[in-house]
Amino acid sequence: MSPEQFREEGKKIIDWIADYYEQIEDYPVLSQVKPGDIINSLPDAAPLQGESIDDMIKDLDEKIMPGITHWQSPNFFAYFNANTSFPSILGDLVSSGLGVQGMLWATSPAATEVETRVLDWLADMMNMPEQFHSTSSGGGVIQDTASTAALTAIIAARERVTKFKTNEDGLDKKLVAYASSQTHSSVEKGIKIAGIGRANLRLIDVDENCSMRTDLLEQQIQQDRANGLIPFFVCGTIGTTSSTAIDPLPEIGKICKQEKCWFHIDAASLGTAMLCPEFRHLANGVELADSYSFNPHKWMFTNFDCNVFWVANRKELINTFSILPEYLRNKATESGEVFDYRDWHIQLGRRFRALKLWFVIRHYGVKGLQFLIREHVRLANEFENWVKDSEEFEVVVPTTMNMVCFRHKSDDAFNLKLMNTINEAGKIFFTHTKLNGQVVLRMNIGQTHIEEKHVKNAWKIIQDTARELESNR
Ligand SMILES: *Cc1c(COP(=O)(O)O)cnc(C)c1O
Repeated sequence: MSPEQFREEGKKIIDWIADYYEQIEDYPVLSQVKPGDIINSLPDAAPLQGESIDDMIKDLDEKIMPGITHWQSPNFFAYFNANTSFPSILGDLVSSGLGVQGMLWATSPAATEVETRVLDWLADMMNMPEQFHSTSSGGGVIQDTASTAALTAIIAARERVTKFKTNEDGLDKKLVAYASSQTHSSVEKGIKIAGIGRANLRLIDVDENCSMRTDLLEQQIQQDRANGLIPFFVCGTIGTTSSTAIDPLPEIGKICKQEKCWFHIDAASLGTAMLCPEFRHLANGVELADSYSFNPHKWMFTNFDCNVFWVANRKELINTFSILPEYLRNKATESGEVFDYRDWHIQLGRRFRALKLWFVIRHYGVKGLQFLIREHVRLANEFENWVKDSEEFEVVVPTTMNMVCFRHKSDDAFNLKLMNTINEAGKIFFTHTKLNGQVVLRMNIGQTHIEEKHVKNAWKIIQDTARELESNR
């Protein structure tokens, strides 16, 4: 494909994406295909001769689109959203176009320095502690996901507590980690991968708001110490996945300081709320953290994947992950004046992901981002009020930010039936969780193009369907 052909075909693809967004509400939000439908529609073998982009676009429409769940639809209320935006898509396209591999500063200085600058901007925009800035002892790095960020934190914590010897000799001590029973499963996965052992992760019980009970955390740590074990890592969450609960970070941080445990904060979804000064209190205690992660690919209009991972002390991270084979030796690295981000995470190679974040922040500006986040929180509060005012439904836990946990006052089976009936009809898509053993419906409001009418419409569908199901009982 020549640059001239690329210009032509590329315009068709941009048009195709723009058309998609104009028509997105015409599709059923949740894909209606059955397992195997898509794979069976594709040829058994790869084409021998090259094919045209026009043929590929035709197959996108006919074969791929039926198997898409429309995450960018304003009628998507499921899980935590993974919103994107046109400036992000364009930034990502530029990154693909440049095709650089930014493992070292020397392999594309801009890929490193834009990332450093943008993450310092973000730290300022979110009023994060001084130590998270690259100009101080720590700094930020873009990881693919919050799961990888948690694993990275666990491994760095393991090295710090074993004086960076586990990397050399293997693990010979019984280390113990702590998280709440509501912590995301990625922490358990990280503990397994890092060789700590699932049996050495303590899941601390939560209070009625689903926040970690620090009295129990303290007791458990004392008990483990008494048994000759070494507590080394605690994860606190801002916005748990089930119910957006907030752990008591100042208390956890204090315990971590006393016990010399690494304190990681997982703010995957709600982290974006820190853009607004009035929500920044959710992160009180962050100044005690060793590491902090949030996903611009959830609520900050930046397409998947993009996780921001800040550490208070980058030396600990670099001592854990640095490796320098002969073939990567270069002057800039040896001068010590540059960041080589391959030393800040697990993999070697890395995309120029900072570009999409840079495009997003510059397009919206701080004010534009704040406006959208406030609007989503306002819409969630409105939805919560409608639920409170209704006879048939109830709010299950207080709404923290942009996610409402509610249920129909009848039983679990009815709630699940209600949700499945609505999702199969395809007008909206939302999901459930369990809190205290009870089925709870979740309405997550964070779509880039969502408006009040979409939330109103969703509430009407939920109420109408519930009444219909009740009358048929
Ligand atoms: C979504 C989520 C994660 C996992 O995010 P990935 O980026 O997909 O790994 C971790 N923690 C919390 C609290 C989450 O909500």
